[in-house]
Amino acid sequence: MLELISLKKTYKTGDKALDNVTISVPKGQIVGLIGPSGAGKSTLIRCINRLVEPTSGSISLSGRAVTGLGHRDLRAMRRRIGMIFQEYALVERLTVMENVLSGRLGYVGFWTSFTRHYSSDDVSRAYHLLDRVGLLDHADKRADALSGGQRQRVGIARALAQEPELLLVDEPTASLDPKTSRQIMRLLTGICAERDLPAIVNIHDVPLAQQFMQRIVGLRAGQVVFDGAPSDLTEDA
Ligand code: ADP
Ligand code: ADP
Repeated sequence: MLELISLKKTYKTGDKALDNVTISVPKGQIVGLIGPSGAGKSTLIRCINRLVEPTSGSISLSGRAVTGLGHRDLRAMRRRIGMIFQEYALVERLTVMENVLSGRLGYVGFWTSFTRHYSSDDVSRAYHLLDRVGLLDHADKRADALSGGQRQRVGIARALAQEPELLLVDEPTASLDPKTSRQIMRLLTGICAERDLPAIVNIHDVPLAQQFMQRIVGLRAGQVVFDGAPSDLTEDA
């Protein structure tokens, strides 16, 4: 369970990006975050993995604090959070398998060199994940030989290789065509359900959110203006 309490973020520039956001996400729930550009969606996601320091408020994951951690604990905490990105953030010259294994290193932003030795457990888990995302036949291909949809499948498998307690997903389908977008959303929601994994998905496409999300949180000017079932969503969120 992820819990955000009275979260506020005001940037140095004076931009009030989050204004008293309180949300809790139980295990297995997949939440779509919607709202106009500048509403605070990216800031919210970045506060949870602490790429952005909240001005006040608290965040906890499975009962453990995310806010107020020192450097070392921060790295350990980031390993508990799987990230999936709009532009996939794969290492293009590495194979699909190597990209998935790199998830074992933890947060991909700090990925530097491919030097770690992987256990046979890591490798068999990675094959299992590639099978789940439908890319078993592509394990040895380089990432740059894949289509957008295939890349995002690798991104999903890599995030799962980390065995996360939470997925943070930033515009996963923004670079994909509508049909591939639906396939990716179906995969993502299926995996979350199987693993009882909570997820927050920053999703621009409202119809796609309504089709696939269990719950929608609408942000506007840093405040929660809607929080409920997709079917209850009205025009204004
Ligand atoms: P969204 O993801 O919904 O488009 P953001 O979280 O990117 O919204 O932005 C929320 C507000 O915070 C906007 O007013 C934006 O200009 C501002 N903002 C975002 N990032 C920064 C930053 N690094 N420095 C200053 N202001 C920022
Ligand atoms: P997004 O697509 O997530 O809404 P943006 O295009 O708004 O992102 O912002 C791109 C980058 O610029 C992000 O790192 C964001 O934090 C930063 N940023 C956004 N708004 C501002 C701002 N007003 N001042 C400084 N940095 C900003």
